[in-house]
Amino acid sequence: MKETLQSLLLSGQEELKEKGVPEPDLDAKYLLLEAFCTDMAHFLMDRGRGLAETEENHRMAGRYREMIRERARRVPLQQILGIQEFMGLSFFVSPHVLIPRQDTETLVEAVLKEHPGAGERVLELCTGSGCIAVSLARLGKYGQITATDLSKEALKVARKNCESLLGREQGAFCPVELVHGDLFEALGTKEAKFDLLVANPPYIPTQAILRLEPEVRDFEPRMALDGREDGLEFYRRIVAECGKYLNKGAAIYLEIGCDQAEEVGALLERHGFKALRVLRDGAGLDRVVAAIYDAAGAALRK
Ligand code: GLN
Repeated sequence: MKETLQSLLLSGQEELKEKGVPEPDLDAKYLLLEAFCTDMAHFLMDRGRGLAETEENHRMAGRYREMIRERARRVPLQQILGIQEFMGLSFFVSPHVLIPRQDTETLVEAVLKEHPGAGERVLELCTGSGCIAVSLARLGKYGQITATDLSKEALKVARKNCESLLGREQGAFCPVELVHGDLFEALGTKEAKFDLLVANPPYIPTQAILRLEPEVRDFEPRMALDGREDGLEFYRRIVAECGKYLNKGAAIYLEIGCDQAEEVGALLERHGFKALRVLRDGAGLDRVVAAIYDAAGAALRK
């Protein structure tokens, strides 16, 4: 019997199911649509029709089977497709960046709502794919966003996202400036002061990474996840070092693990931040700590 899109779909779904992939039916469908460069409407019309014995169909079926094999060894769907939606925008991803999470939209939405932009200078640390900085630039009115990362490979992905989503050629003016380096070291000797500091740093305790899904544990960059022994190392460094880069009254928004609000909040208070708030994500879990920098308060404590 001739192969059809439907028979290919079913065999792919079966293979993913056998390997314990969490959403086998949906994932196989996405991969089939991608391999055959088609969409749901055309799939529904054509799925029962025997596939003609053409070279192109062979090639596309081969690509589909290859992608199913990848997914069966738990490579994340987004790394196979090379994209992930975030804030309604389509971001390139690679194995060098954390795949943008819906949880992180909580941070972006809060910043857009509470600080619509214009004159504010924004600093993002640990930008990864650039999803936070690029969403802010595209959906807010920020004229100057500096985004840093320790990974040069991640910055290449962020640059690609700037080019595709902000529509600027490399070298031309772009509201997002990408700089390489370890947290604030990336700023070098620049005398920069910011009104807004945002970050989704690595925050998973090292040992807890071993208990995550294989997609995350084995395929996402460890350096984007590992917050060291207690998960809080990057918050300690960011909060301790940020004062000299912030204007008085600057706002900070940090994504956190759902059980880290208390500790990160205490850190912020100890370093001159006030008006602490904890924001919840769509699942009702603590996801962002926001606060205001009170330079005077910080000086008194020194
Ligand atoms: N939210 C991510 C996860 O649960 C972790 C992100 C991070 O460490 N910054 O996999």
